Amino acid sequence: MRIVLLGPPGAGKGTYASRLTVILGVPHISTGDMVREEINAKTELGKAIKGYSDKGELVPDEIMTKLLAKRLGEPDSEKGLILDGFPRTIKQAEALNRISKIDLVINLNVPDEVIIQRLSNRLICRRCGTIYNKLTLKPKRDNICDKCGGELYQREDDRPKVIQDRLNLYRKNTEPLIEYYKKKNLLRNVRCDDLMIPPEVIVEKIMLIIGSVQDTSRT
Ligand code: AMP
Repeated sequence: MRIVLLGPPGAGKGTYASRLTVILGVPHISTGDMVREEINAKTELGKAIKGYSDKGELVPDEIMTKLLAKRLGEPDSEKGLILDGFPRTIKQAEALNRISKIDLVINLNVPDEVIIQRLSNRLICRRCGTIYNKLTLKPKRDNICDKCGGELYQREDDRPKVIQDRLNLYRKNTEPLIEYYKKKNLLRNVRCDDLMIPPEVIVEKIMLIIGSVQDTSRT
């Protein structure tokens, strides 16, 4: 199954996708991770897009679409995928239509106050990318990843001023995709009003939706 996770920054897309990828056995493709990898590796592309990412701005559609098309050309995404962070504009959604079939779009509904609390407390492992939260998903040892022992850091774009800019950008550029996918009859909503709801509870809700869509496509 080919699934898009839609939702504002800090809605939990990466956290849920990292669990769904294990359950479903399909790759988790995060364009944000791809952007950070290019930047960390200091490639020519990484140098060109660092400014956008640090300020929480969108990387131009053509660059992101090319990056994604290259990734989807790899054999592991043939049996299915979970897309996290793409599409973020109508142009990207149209490009995605040309590159890949999409079976389901999960829209994560999260109030702004939950997002701001979550992002300003988010920590990421520098080595393996595991996501933690200082309030809700604490590592066993301060600033050390439970999984690989890597150092935890706060993303440059998770600072309060940038968070608000990213939310505004989401409302303007990405929210229209909700209507876009509703019209295509692909959209299903999942609500998450409370920061303290464990990720497993939301993942279970998403799995129920996936199951019902699979049943319908079989009949
Ligand atoms: P994320 O981890 O999904 O929040 O992405 C981090 C940053 O990478 C964003 O703030 C953008 O600068 C860039 N980025 C990731 N995905 C896209 C996309 N689909 N379109 C444009 N920029 C993106």
